[in-house]
Amino acid sequence: MNFLSTFVTFKSLHEVRRLCHWGPVIALSVIAICSSMAILDSIIWYWPLDTTGGSINFIMLLNWTVLILYNYFSAMFVGPGYIPLGWKPENQQDTRYLQYCRVCQAYKAPRSHHCRKCNRCVMKMDHHCPWINNCCGHLNHAYFTSFLLLAPLGCSHAAIIFIMTMYTQLYERMKVILRNKTSIESWIEEKAKDRIQHYQTGEEFIFPYDLGSRWLNFKQVFTWSGTPKGDGTEWPVHPKCNQHTLTIEQLKQKADKRVRSVQYQAVEDYNGACCPLSKGLQTFFRTPCTEEPRIPLSKGDTILATRGTKWWMYGDKVLSEEQMRGERVRGWFPRRCVEKCHYDTAASDSTSDKKVN
Ligand SMILES: [Zn+2]
Ligand SMILES: [Zn+2]
Repeated sequence: MNFLSTFVTFKSLHEVRRLCHWGPVIALSVIAICSSMAILDSIIWYWPLDTTGGSINFIMLLNWTVLILYNYFSAMFVGPGYIPLGWKPENQQDTRYLQYCRVCQAYKAPRSHHCRKCNRCVMKMDHHCPWINNCCGHLNHAYFTSFLLLAPLGCSHAAIIFIMTMYTQLYERMKVILRNKTSIESWIEEKAKDRIQHYQTGEEFIFPYDLGSRWLNFKQVFTWSGTPKGDGTEWPVHPKCNQHTLTIEQLKQKADKRVRSVQYQAVEDYNGACCPLSKGLQTFFRTPCTEEPRIPLSKGDTILATRGTKWWMYGDKVLSEEQMRGERVRGWFPRRCVEKCHYDTAASDSTSDKKVN
């Protein structure tokens, strides 16, 4: 109880009414929205709680929220301190040096002023702040200033998370639209190039849906009517392609079990962090927005990748006979940690047939 009374001092229940004002309503809503969005955003998209970075980030965000709210409520409910009604200086002689407040029926102590909003004489009055719906003065000066200092710090932390989300979500989605190529199609294209290279077929793979201009691609999705172009089953294609160029390639890949995955070898160690700091800014910022696991890699590991983005790949680690008794190791890893295996060596051909589960 002692702790509670130091946390927030309610002079009377009447004080709770300070919350019923546009200032605190807006301020508290902004704090609640920003902190809950930043916390949820970072847990879902970037740093799950079971990672060290995720826990530190979560504790920091929680810390900002608690400190900001503590100082905010203290500034509001502790208040500036009021000159007691009917106050007069101990030495009667001093009254001639003081002004008299007729509302409070008291002398105005040095540095105090009468606040019309609070309807009281306020100790060392600085100003009446609508955001805390109270005056800022003697007793709450430190709380109020700490709040002003902490709020931008907490906001900056939240802003970094929002910018990262906007970047990965909006920018990545825009890129898909401007190239007219989904992330699944990017991977089909990668496997097509791998298949052509492996069998030396001499084919040239052209992605059929890229209309050759970003503006034309953009207009396929965004129209003035709000309805995207086309009926969703037939698509405009590159002049050298037809409606079934991509589906034929998919069938070829399906028939060729080898290219369901592409074999890679780890050339760098990776500790399994969601946003690794040591693998470059692009890898850090473009971490896949998914809850799927990341897999740690050691130099020399073989991985069969089944999909990927420009900066990350997803696949199964090829395990040795003893390791295979456990569960399969499948997840995301940074692309820069691996190199594509070449097919011209007999050794790699034998490993490509290894089972992954
Ligand atoms: Zn007064
Ligand atoms: Zn006031």
